[in-house]
Amino acid sequence: MADKPVADWDALAREWDLWRADDRQPTLWWRDDDAVDVTPALDELRRVARVPLALAVIPMALERPLQERLGPYLRNWGQVRVLQHGVGHLNHAPAGAKKSEFPATRALGEIELALTVAATFLRDTLGPDVLPVLTPPWNRIGAPALELLLRLGFHGVSRFDAFPYVAKTPELPRLPPFREINTQIDVIDWRGTRGFVGAEPALGWLVAHLSARRQGVVDPGLPTGILTHHLVHDTATWRFLENLQDWLARRGELGVFQDPRALWPLP
Ligand SMILES: [Zn+2]
Repeated sequence: MADKPVADWDALAREWDLWRADDRQPTLWWRDDDAVDVTPALDELRRVARVPLALAVIPMALERPLQERLGPYLRNWGQVRVLQHGVGHLNHAPAGAKKSEFPATRALGEIELALTVAATFLRDTLGPDVLPVLTPPWNRIGAPALELLLRLGFHGVSRFDAFPYVAKTPELPRLPPFREINTQIDVIDWRGTRGFVGAEPALGWLVAHLSARRQGVVDPGLPTGILTHHLVHDTATWRFLENLQDWLARRGELGVFQDPRALWPLP
């Protein structure tokens, strides 16, 4: 399929070596979505992740309210940082349109109020380590709401780049401190089995994005993002995440995973 390039570990090694031959560092980052509580799956994520991780937490989901015990749990997890995953993870798109909590059709005043209340609640519940970065549910946000983020004091946004990776016109001025840093490798096969997408497509996207960065097709300075959803991982998904870290560790390259605090530094 056109949206699923395939690659194996040898192809990753070849791409990696091309970066290192130029004395460049092929940076990665890891975003995991939909946390609201301490669960066995979150325990597993903490066990599996040996690197810095950005946990996208839903502040005010109606059916899965944010649990206070998540705060102390995350404070004891040194390598995790929290991003704001929308408000309630509720669909406000018109019937028939792709799901979005912040579509261009939703009243901007309502979005502003919801985002502000949710951001305050998230910080009050989880503590000051929450980064002022929005990861919109379903990776979608309309242009008016995106502009609003600047005014509301957000430092960035994180969405998803689908393959093929091509240069995009920035929707917002690239003014510090606002940065859009996206993910590209979604390990879940949402439209198919809802299990692991498979090593070949996952590595295919990883190699393709690294290659696009190395060749300057997309911004080489922005890290390649792994997107996970701990609540739905099957054994094969966990195994792949372990294998990727093992592969990097064998090369002494685990340090390529960027700390979210460095991606969105506070002034
Ligand atoms: Zn989500």
